Amino acid sequence: RGAIALQGVSRVFGGGIVAVDRIDLDIRPGEFFTLLGPSGCGKTTLLRMIAGFETPDSGCILISGREMQTVPAHKRAVNTVFQSYALFSHLNVADNIGFGLRMRGVAKAERRARTEQIMGLLQIDAFATRNPAQLSGGQRQRVALARALVNEPEVVLLDEPLSALDAKLRAELQVELMRMQKRLGMTFIFVTHDQHEALVMSDRIAVMERGRMLQVGPVLDVYEQPRSVFVAEFLGLSNIWTFTARPGNIAETPIGPITVTAPLGSATTAMIRPEKIWLHPEAAAPSDRPNLFPGTIREAIYMGASTQYNVELRGGAVILALDTNNQAAERSWRPGEKIVLELKPDNIMLIDP
Ligand code: ADP
Ligand code: MG
Repeated sequence: RGAIALQGVSRVFGGGIVAVDRIDLDIRPGEFFTLLGPSGCGKTTLLRMIAGFETPDSGCILISGREMQTVPAHKRAVNTVFQSYALFSHLNVADNIGFGLRMRGVAKAERRARTEQIMGLLQIDAFATRNPAQLSGGQRQRVALARALVNEPEVVLLDEPLSALDAKLRAELQVELMRMQKRLGMTFIFVTHDQHEALVMSDRIAVMERGRMLQVGPVLDVYEQPRSVFVAEFLGLSNIWTFTARPGNIAETPIGPITVTAPLGSATTAMIRPEKIWLHPEAAAPSDRPNLFPGTIREAIYMGASTQYNVELRGGAVILALDTNNQAAERSWRPGEKIVLELKPDNIMLIDP
């Protein structure tokens, strides 16, 4: 119960736009699964097909083991929160949220208790008696969320449900939603174009580009071991170099030879995340280790919990390094300072063409 399977699912719109292109996917019961990709890559179309508002041109969709081809949207065991949410304009917030429970004949006292609980969780209890027209976009979005979650469905489909919220509330609700999903054991299929949001919330993610699924896996795996340059760049900052293989596990890159741990195989691109790069003061740099690159700090971008450094190497290439401000607790670098970067072989990921 609560499992979703897609087998070779495609959707082609008029004019030959392949919105979703032969997607296979298995989503496990109770999983927080996120579809991540840039605008226009097919996320909403995929979600609408699972919900039953859109019909695949080929392939099939199974919910809890049951083929959905002939099952209309309202008979599917899913609840959906869309980007554009329609609330009943003549009902106040509490009644909007309790509507589904009322339709299912849930007794008044229980309806009230559940409605109040979910309103508290989503921080909308103060607006309980207002009408939708008296709410801001972000408040309306939370009411739409509450209305779907109060029914405690097996599967919840969420299409960028936090996009209208300001940063602080958004961060709070990301964590709150994740907790709620775990506590109630619902399957969440969450759509976002925001890599940070995807990393924070998900058990597994699927990165999409132009209707295709590029990589599916646990958040950490996809972030640390991207299998394509697109995935590497979409999930965060990275340093990426193409290389020619040399004996001794050496990748000959434009910044010079880099020793790596993983077998070079057929890979042609090397990648390292900025936070995996070590910065040493020039005077106290190691000399007996591989992959030491002297350079000069050109820019220091302070970002609160971390500082991003743009470091120029002797040959002119620029490397991005991120100090999470606890590596060397007391140390921060200023533009013009000379340092030595260390790229540890274990931290260098290889990408096949
Ligand atoms: P996303 O949600 O990732 O932004 P969509 O699923 O909305 O992407 O859209 C995927 C592609 O399909 C886009 O090129 C979009 O223009 C196109 N598309 C979506 N819905 C329709 C439609 N009803 N008719 C024609 N083209 C559509
Ligand atoms: Mg969309």
